Amino acid sequence: MNDLRRHLVPYRDVLAEAADRVLRSGWFILGPETERFETLFADYCGVGNGIGVGNGTDALVLALKAAGVGPGIQVLAAANAGFYATTAILATGGEPLYVDIDPDTHTVTEDAVQDGLNRATRPGAVIVTHLFGRAVADIKEISALAEARGISLIEDCAQAHGARIKGRRVGSWGRFGCFSFYPTKNLGALGDGGMVVTGDAGLAARLRKLRQYGWSAKYRVALAGGMNSRLDEMQAALLGTLLPELDGWNQRRRDVVAAYRRKLGGVDGLWLPPLGIEASEEDTTYHLFVLRSPQRDALQVHLSALGISTDIHYPTPDHKQAAIAAEPWAKAALPETERSAAEILSIPCSPEITEAEIDAVCAGLASFGRAD
Ligand SMILES: *Cc1c(COP(=O)(O)O)cnc(C)c1O
Repeated sequence: MNDLRRHLVPYRDVLAEAADRVLRSGWFILGPETERFETLFADYCGVGNGIGVGNGTDALVLALKAAGVGPGIQVLAAANAGFYATTAILATGGEPLYVDIDPDTHTVTEDAVQDGLNRATRPGAVIVTHLFGRAVADIKEISALAEARGISLIEDCAQAHGARIKGRRVGSWGRFGCFSFYPTKNLGALGDGGMVVTGDAGLAARLRKLRQYGWSAKYRVALAGGMNSRLDEMQAALLGTLLPELDGWNQRRRDVVAAYRRKLGGVDGLWLPPLGIEASEEDTTYHLFVLRSPQRDALQVHLSALGISTDIHYPTPDHKQAAIAAEPWAKAALPETERSAAEILSIPCSPEITEAEIDAVCAGLASFGRAD
């Protein structure tokens, strides 16, 4: 599914140069490299402020805290996105209010968010996840709904760095855009990393305090609810070196998917995701290429026997996870979320996959169920 050596070893010289620069600087936490990458990445997103943090989950936690979410406050979210949003909501003391997904895009819609808002008694935020790299089509309408209710829209962009919709990058639609730089993401570090982007300078100042103990200055705690979650200088320098490659990598992912579509068009019983709504498909960066099959489990076994690795993102919806089974808010009716969890299958889709490998995956999918 992922070969990070293939992905990054070609950049070893420039990465080593960046690492050497940090080593020689003797400055390892919240210094010039982090500031530089915050500016570079926020500019890339078309947003005024970037706040580098420890990882993508912390980015969500800090955005929720800055949005005023705490005990008793509800946060609307989808339940098909790997429990990341749920982890963050629970870390603030808030409560998830799950909304169902659209079966074609695996993301939330304006109608679903409206329905969630109608059911909500104390909403504080809505988290919209651009899952699998696909920008949520209704992001503008959802932003208007959040605005009208006086709550924050938080975009989870951890799988969608660089995706554009209506000409604007994801992360620039919400009050907050949250990113992860976990190594397998579309832009990944050589370790953990994350960022919150926001157009609001006041919220940016709040986030800078919250990520470092609530400090306004050294040892002066101005804000309660602070934590320690900082992007380090080494990862920031490496990420700044790799950022210019991101658009090319995303284009390569789109090309890989176009090849899959050409070769898989006639395969029976296999559901392919519809094209993105933008003609250029720039609204999807194909972090993952996710098929559906009613015989998913048998298909996965068949592919595995042929040496083709696949994965399921994600097998258990959030509201069905054992850890929260007893919570009243976990008793949600989410038929599309549950149906998709039983049918989805992610096939290899990386910028470095070769034509021969794509052919092998397609041959494996085509031979499923065929007596031979
Ligand atoms: C990876 C991911 C996260 C969490 O990022 P970490 O850096 O691993 O904490 C959050 N949301 C989504 C959708 C992700 O894919």
